[in-house]
Amino acid sequence: PTDLNTLADEYLKIAYHGFKAKNQSFNCELITDFDADLKPVDVAPQEIGRVLLNLYNNAFYAVSERAKLHPEDYQPMVQVSTQQIGHGIEFRVSDNGTGIPETVKAKIFQPFFTTKPTGEGTGLGLSLSYDIITKGHGGTLTVESTEGEGTEFIITLPTTV
Ligand code: ADP
Ligand code: MG
Repeated sequence: PTDLNTLADEYLKIAYHGFKAKNQSFNCELITDFDADLKPVDVAPQEIGRVLLNLYNNAFYAVSERAKLHPEDYQPMVQVSTQQIGHGIEFRVSDNGTGIPETVKAKIFQPFFTTKPTGEGTGLGLSLSYDIITKGHGGTLTVESTEGEGTEFIITLPTTV
């Protein structure tokens, strides 16, 4: 059984430092809200780690793109939270980045779909994440986004009882 709070926090730091290493001037406020009463989940930590890394990297990318548009009056922000809800865990990653247009939103879980320039994205992250969460762990992965405002990805996972 895995403590998802620890996993989520460790990978957040790894992703942030990795992103900063490639983008020297990148700065982002990180807000975490981890439920102390979270139950352990029966997951493959490396697989969930890959999912988390991709969601974090996508979020950092989205805020860095928005920062390029109006750097003077914009504070990039990525927020991560966990919550125990009955026999399930809800994990959320939200950002105040570029957001996702409706036409794009319909395709983001398709393999090889990317809006990023060559070399910056393979378009495999979300399709792989979707399979890991749904087929691999019996959970759900959904998205809510408003273009120009931000994006939130929500994972639910069943708790080990
Ligand atoms: P990649 O990151 O290689 O492009 P993903 O499968 O991780 O592939 O994401 C697919 C696409 O979904 C991205 O290219 C982007 O258009 C969109 N997307 C994913 N996460 C976000 C986000 N947090 N904000 C805005 N767009 C996003
Ligand atoms: Mg990605």
